[in-house]
Amino acid sequence: MRLSRYFLPVLKETPAEAQIVSHRLMLRAGMIRQASAGIYSWLPLGFKVLRRIEQIVHEEQIRAGHVPMLMPTLQSADLWRVSGRYDAYGPEMLRLKDRHDREMLYGPTNEEMITEIVANYVTSYKALPLTLYHVQWKFRDEVRPRFGVMRGREFLMKDGYNFDLSKDMALHAYNRHLVSYLRTYERMGLQAIPMRADSGPIGGDYTHEFLVLADTGESEVFYDAEITDLTFGEREIDYDSVPQCQAVLEEFTSRYARTDETHDAGLFNQIPEARRRQARGIEVGQIFYFGTEYSEKLGAFVQNEGGERVPLHMGSHGIGVSRLVGAIIEASHDEKGIIWPEGVTPFHVGIVNLRQGDSGTDAACEALYKALKAKGLEPLYDDRDERAGAKFASMDLIGLPWRITVGPRGLEKGVVELTSRRTGDSEEMSAEDAAARVAEIYAPHHAHVAAMVEPMADRSFHTWL
Ligand code: ATP
Ligand code: MG
Repeated sequence: MRLSRYFLPVLKETPAEAQIVSHRLMLRAGMIRQASAGIYSWLPLGFKVLRRIEQIVHEEQIRAGHVPMLMPTLQSADLWRVSGRYDAYGPEMLRLKDRHDREMLYGPTNEEMITEIVANYVTSYKALPLTLYHVQWKFRDEVRPRFGVMRGREFLMKDGYNFDLSKDMALHAYNRHLVSYLRTYERMGLQAIPMRADSGPIGGDYTHEFLVLADTGESEVFYDAEITDLTFGEREIDYDSVPQCQAVLEEFTSRYARTDETHDAGLFNQIPEARRRQARGIEVGQIFYFGTEYSEKLGAFVQNEGGERVPLHMGSHGIGVSRLVGAIIEASHDEKGIIWPEGVTPFHVGIVNLRQGDSGTDAACEALYKALKAKGLEPLYDDRDERAGAKFASMDLIGLPWRITVGPRGLEKGVVELTSRRTGDSEEMSAEDAAARVAEIYAPHHAHVAAMVEPMADRSFHTWL
């Protein structure tokens, strides 16, 4: 993309209404614009990051064997009356009427709708196990929408629902989700710690929230410092293997890590004092096994192997896709702006032309731009007629992890400069070497996608990016 043709309305001033750094930076970098309280337009740069995050979520869901679909945002009130949640949900639910006076709502979540679908089509245990998911906009009329996309009213969520024949099988689905979420967040450059959470009125021990540690987080958390040493990395996991998923769950949940709702001071104090941590965190996801409650209410039963009619065991599993954009910035920025992790960056590399209009420099930038694109990379070429200082400031603000600076002085020596946004370190090399180096840096990220194409039954989702 050439910056002169793009739409990147960066702001010089710090917007007064934004209280936390991610909100400020998203406004300043021209990523979002508020449409009304808690409702945002995603401007091109923000939209790109949102899509990158969504893409990783899809890839890891499909890798885990889950099946993508799409349910509508508007729902009829009827099913919610059956489940009893139409009244229980309260003022957070946005209710509306159509021209025939039928009661509708903008879905805050989709348990009812998915259970009704499964109830209608799945009749035999042979169709199980089944996990369906979608990435769709939700609406919750939050009392205090704030912090930009972190607590919006309209927000994008991945919500998935597992349907299993027995509690044991549903718990495997739970573990499988935990494993896939660990991979998902790490690919986004985030450490999200699974913490034991409150299961609310339904009860049971089976819910974990994934929290990103950040001072601006809305949740208070307590954990054993050892947990922050754990990484999932590039392990090969067979998602159908009960012991493999179980082992990962045990590894990541055996140390103390709880939100304030489930915090137990007695247990916490058994950890050596030097390792006890009390901090704040941003909830970026939650997994939940809740049994047969919805299946029984909405008629999702199957015949088991013995021919008996039994209700399905369910769980629901959410990832806050739009909240993640803010959470990643909270975790990765400095005083100059955003620092995108390579996995989610809107463009792979920026090209800064130090002498726009100089024929030699322009030609070198054009050649580099083409070379990067030929390697499958997306460069953002700052071809505006601006001072070098202004170009550097914009690049630093929007946070591309790598920058290649091209100027007449370097070109005389046959070099350009490759700079890391994170460390600020620069290295001079030929333009060809710089392009090759950047391609090498992103190779592991692209390998994820390449590896996915073969085993995937449905390749169509690759085409929408
Ligand atoms: P919270 O406690 O933050 O209100 P929740 O527990 O009600 O969230 P879930 O129903 O677990 O939310 O939704 C799954 C994920 O969706 C959350 O983990 C969070 O990342 C995201 N999410 C929930 N509410 C919002 C919101 N108002 N704005 C943006 N993202 C949200
Ligand atoms: Mg939650």
